[in-house]
Amino acid sequence: MKPKFEEISTSTVREVIELLSPAADDYLYVYDFAQDYYYISPHARQRFLMEDNAFHNVAENLKRMVYPEDFPKLRADLDGILTTNRCTHNLTYRLLSAEEKPVWINCRGTVVRDAAEKPLYMVGCINEIGKDQKADNRSGLLGAASLKTYLSQYKDAFPDGFVLRIGLDGLKGVNARLGIEYGDLVLEKTSEFISECLLPGETLYHVVGDEFLVVDFEGRNTALGKDLYRHVRDKIRDFIMEKNYEVLFTISGGMLDCRDIDEPSYSRVMKYTEFALNEAKRLGKNTCYLYMPEDYGKFLRRRKLNLHLRQAINNQFEGFEAYYQPLFSADKHRLIGAEALMRFHCEEFGMVSPGEFIPILEETFLIVPAGRWIMHEALKMCREVQKYIPDFKISINISHVQILRSSIGREILAAIDQYGIDPKYVTIELTESGLLETDQRFTTLWSHLKEAGITLALDDFGTGYSNFHYFTDLQPDIVKIDRSFAAKAATDEFEFEILSLFSKMIHELNLKVCVEGVETAAELEKLCQLPPEYLQGFFLGRPCPKTQFIEQFVQN
Ligand code: C2E
Ligand code: CA
Ligand code: CA
Repeated sequence: MKPKFEEISTSTVREVIELLSPAADDYLYVYDFAQDYYYISPHARQRFLMEDNAFHNVAENLKRMVYPEDFPKLRADLDGILTTNRCTHNLTYRLLSAEEKPVWINCRGTVVRDAAEKPLYMVGCINEIGKDQKADNRSGLLGAASLKTYLSQYKDAFPDGFVLRIGLDGLKGVNARLGIEYGDLVLEKTSEFISECLLPGETLYHVVGDEFLVVDFEGRNTALGKDLYRHVRDKIRDFIMEKNYEVLFTISGGMLDCRDIDEPSYSRVMKYTEFALNEAKRLGKNTCYLYMPEDYGKFLRRRKLNLHLRQAINNQFEGFEAYYQPLFSADKHRLIGAEALMRFHCEEFGMVSPGEFIPILEETFLIVPAGRWIMHEALKMCREVQKYIPDFKISINISHVQILRSSIGREILAAIDQYGIDPKYVTIELTESGLLETDQRFTTLWSHLKEAGITLALDDFGTGYSNFHYFTDLQPDIVKIDRSFAAKAATDEFEFEILSLFSKMIHELNLKVCVEGVETAAELEKLCQLPPEYLQGFFLGRPCPKTQFIEQFVQN
């Protein structure tokens, strides 16, 4: 005879839960109202913030394991069970994980009442709603959760082999142009092609939206992994041709040698392959990148440095410093002025070179506030030094990003005005970036500054982009010869001939030459034969902080 539910004791329910728990991912529970007692599947103890999976004082204990913001909602729902004759509980809220992170769950329960409708207990189930998909029924492949289970059987190390993460390039575009159904077809076909290319023992997972992951624990090397990637690519190419180019898409691959996985865990595999796939995409997509620990190390350093730079800027530029390198006249070696150079140091990395942090500032547009900061520092310094040397000139480097992303022209003029400096004592240094003569923002700024009487210097001549017609088109006041060019010219007669020719042409246009990076007496002697108007270099003076600069170069 079927027992009435109210005749089943909570200790029996508890035994049933204990029995079922090993077979269920979800958490089963019973809440005995009369005894104020709660019991939940034992494996909840590892997942959630609870000392024991059985406890009295339920409200108080729940309060500790529920995400604080969600507790009032749960409390109200439970009170409703006690004050009305409602028999169901169905609530979505957050519990705290053992690591005290919020975990979204759905909690459902059935309330068992006695003949007088008094609630006896509630029995039900908690399931995590944000949990990874175990399988993808559309592609017919296993999902991330299954990959996790597969990898978790290896405790000490993964076997030799490779992991290849494949991502579709431009699925969004396919969806937008041909519709979601077509996008689904492309995904389906890709997973089909990968499956067809697998060798015995290799397993395939559909990890996220447009990404697949192949695991080879059969000892095959990454060269074979790259073959796999190429085979899939060939199949895709044939498919595109078969469809008469109605659809165009490519795949990128992130390859990982199992020997490079320093800790055998799912999270490492995902982290490294994600990095590798991103690198492949960054390299222009439709290519496969092999994970290198050094590259990943550099990436992490860059990411951390980015964070430190951002924090420093938000923290009144703490860690930033302006250094000044003296600039001399070439004829009498008289101090003419200084170039302001940015420095950055932080606890984690110590002093970081501008060659490393300036590109990060540019990429993140943080060069806009940082460039503004050093401009003000430099102008303040200039005014201070002018007390000793009234015609002292200050040179400030401006990045092309500042030109594209801020109203730098107006800012420079306003700041010069604010410090009461004559514009002719300010030099703005710009590097040819390929935009200088074609982009209107550059040409406008250039003529604007020129009109205001500011000196313009074309920096880094002799590297990359330099081209002689910039001199005629842009008419800078000064051309700065980069150290790489100058150093070669100092020792190589042929290079010296080239540099002298340039120097002659520059002088014929009535522009001035500054030689940068003079490191030795021999270099100085040779390069003075050009002859340049200005000199800069470690041999004459290294960049240093303002007080040292004043002591060393101004007061002496
Ligand atoms: P740059 O504008 O060409 O600056 C000259 C660089 O040459 C400086 O490097 C200076 O320390 C270095 N140098 C000077 N004399 C010698 C020498 O005799 N030998 C050698 N080997 N090097 C010498 P630094 O300070 O490391 O700056 C590197 C680059 O970072 C700068 O090259 C510039 O492009 C950028 N940078 C530095 N400060 C700023 C800034 O405030 N704003 C912007 N936008 N860029 C900056
Ligand atoms: Ca410069
Ligand atoms: Ca330079």
